[in-house]
Amino acid sequence: MFRVLVTDEVDQEGVALLAAEPLLQVDEMPTLPKDDLLARIGEYDAIVGRSATRISGDLLKAGARLKVVGRAGVGIDNIALDVATSLGIAVINAPAGNTVAVAELFFGAVIGLLRQIPRAADVMRHGRWDRASFMGRELKGKVLGIVGLGRIGSEVALRAHAFGMTVVAYDPYIADERFTALRVRRAPSLDALLAETNVLTLHVPLTEETQGMIGKRELGRLPSRSVVVNMARGGIVDETALLAALDADQLRGAVLDVYSAEPLATDSPLRSVPNLLLTPHLGANTVEAQRNVSRDVCLAVRDALLRNDLSKSINVAGGAGEWGELQPAMLVARRAAAVARAVLADQGMRAVRKLALRVSPDLAHGTGALLAAAAAGVLEGVIETDRLNLINARALAEARGIELSVGESSELGARALEVALAGGMQQLAVMGTAPDGGTPRLTQIGSFHIDVNPRQTLLILTNLDVPGVIGRVGTLLGEQRVNIAEYHQARLAQGGDALAAISVDGAVSEETRRALLDLPDVLSASVVHFRSE
Ligand code: NAD
Repeated sequence: MFRVLVTDEVDQEGVALLAAEPLLQVDEMPTLPKDDLLARIGEYDAIVGRSATRISGDLLKAGARLKVVGRAGVGIDNIALDVATSLGIAVINAPAGNTVAVAELFFGAVIGLLRQIPRAADVMRHGRWDRASFMGRELKGKVLGIVGLGRIGSEVALRAHAFGMTVVAYDPYIADERFTALRVRRAPSLDALLAETNVLTLHVPLTEETQGMIGKRELGRLPSRSVVVNMARGGIVDETALLAALDADQLRGAVLDVYSAEPLATDSPLRSVPNLLLTPHLGANTVEAQRNVSRDVCLAVRDALLRNDLSKSINVAGGAGEWGELQPAMLVARRAAAVARAVLADQGMRAVRKLALRVSPDLAHGTGALLAAAAAGVLEGVIETDRLNLINARALAEARGIELSVGESSELGARALEVALAGGMQQLAVMGTAPDGGTPRLTQIGSFHIDVNPRQTLLILTNLDVPGVIGRVGTLLGEQRVNIAEYHQARLAQGGDALAAISVDGAVSEETRRALLDLPDVLSASVVHFRSE
């Protein structure tokens, strides 16, 4: 039974989905004062909230049972993500549910600005009838310049066509095919986009690259009397530069829904500019969006708790696509790393310094999750933590000074990967494959080609390639009541070194391992007890 705390008035539709699960006990509470929450958090396996509850590092540390933090919405500025990651707590948000809400607000606000709707309505309310002051402008035929052609940027582009706008976008991270599918012309640079834009809109995340992306210089590049809209995050458009450009009549107007400091100060100079239309971060404020994000996050929290499905967790980076589809490959990555670590340790190399993962192109969509799995494999059995999982594995490995890298290689076969570990002068690569619908296999240890399913325990022996070794190993394991599931013998050349990969049921004791080492012609014996399924 898992206990879930739902707070901050998350929409009921999602809460009902959680409550319908027999294995989940859901407690709903209003936004709690910090200390109250701190006192209770220890009882819960998951907390789901919106932006009002601050999920601080202290709160996460006090949550001894906490496995998942769910945010019904996009922004995770209120969550101490690094602490959650180091503690192995999944952080899940709902990035897609409010896309349409923002896109619709964009058109509402821009048309509101261009037709001066808020001011005209105000004049009416004051009993006047004034048509002459409210000559408007149309969207048709104007160039819409979108920065960031992601979820929201794409929805804005789709709707802009209906208004007869020409749509140009700048997004270096999006493939040409997406531009073509959306009928959006690609601007080669931000400057090129600015030069031809009548209505500029930002739909990028706030990052080092986008912070202050639209400043004095950029505003100066826009054609005179353009419109600027920021519904993404405060700080992307420099507010001081925007004020100056509006003051100088360089811009026709601007729309802001987000601010560098929220809530916006009562006496902010932004509030008194007539052709600056301000909304108080309303982008996602629709009944439909709140329902969508609540449903999305609650389903993802349920799957994380009950099915160990972390595909929606933002701290397992890069696990795009179907988690279920990636899981066999993740198992192979974890097993390959554990095998390489154990064999190297038996050769005296315990301090792993580098872990390099290579994956075939058909697994390239899951490199983040696969690297996390490999990092977990290298740490299992080495570090004392019952919280080692796919969320914190990379951070824990890096904290131990292991350099992680991942790349794609077309030399590997279908759905194949290689984990190479290095430390000191030694290194070892282990390969494996997770065929579609087939059993995960380890296919190579160092130069030896093998073919075993790494299930519970794997014994790796190196021996001289002389007659009788397999029989003696089999007899000894039989005497020790160790059941062999698979025995794969590989050699490089006749009479040279040979390697045996023996998949066995249950555990193999240290005593058995020593007895194997004492057999004639056996050169080394490593035992890997795999920790997870
Ligand atoms: P998204 O991740 O789907 O899209 C962001 C796009 O920006 C991506 O395509 C990415 O390639 C692009 N990008 C990143 N860095 C860039 C750069 N330097 N130059 C050009 N493009 C770059 O995100 P989304 O869901 O579309 O959200 C967009 C923004 O809207 C986010 O900042 C989000 O926080 C904000 N948002 C605001 C509200 C609101 O209430 N106003 C609601 C939801 C989302």
